[in-house]
Amino acid sequence: MIWSAAYVLAGLVLTLWLVRVWIHRRPSGERASRPRELANAELVYMEKLFRIREPIRLVAKVDRVYRLPGGSLVLVELKTRGQDRPYLTDIIQLSAQRLAIEVQTGVVVEPYAFVSALGRNRKMRSHQVRLLDAAAVVDLHRRREAILAMRASPVYARTESVCRGCALRLRCDRFIR
Ligand code: SF4
Repeated sequence: MIWSAAYVLAGLVLTLWLVRVWIHRRPSGERASRPRELANAELVYMEKLFRIREPIRLVAKVDRVYRLPGGSLVLVELKTRGQDRPYLTDIIQLSAQRLAIEVQTGVVVEPYAFVSALGRNRKMRSHQVRLLDAAAVVDLHRRREAILAMRASPVYARTESVCRGCALRLRCDRFIR
């Protein structure tokens, strides 16, 4: 009895995994969700890990990477969320991915990327965002390490307007009193 339940569960997990792979890999699905600006680009990576040790240790998993006709790469991050907009955390995540790809492959990654959000209405919308440069990513990483090691204190964002696009807003003590 226990074994048959385990087989059913394993079969269900495998089926869900295969459906997920199929949805992500079928060309029509990818084409349909692709930002209009990348219509002539070539899809070169999907759900791929990049690892670097310098200038910082970083492991970054990219959703999709496209090669433009000129040879440079463009990142796309896929999100499913209630709010149809990019967050600052998306920009930081994509900027870290950009650094990891450039260091590992030596290929230029454009300083802009797309956050494609699937909203409540099940429609995919792509937002173009400007990325941080390598020095800013390294600074953020070092500051995070310093805060975790209690060598530095965290501070709130300089202005509350920044908080409007922050995914952590509902958990931030700036707004929970
Ligand atoms: S909501 Fe909190 S964590 Fe987010 S940017 Fe503002 S101060 Fe920082």
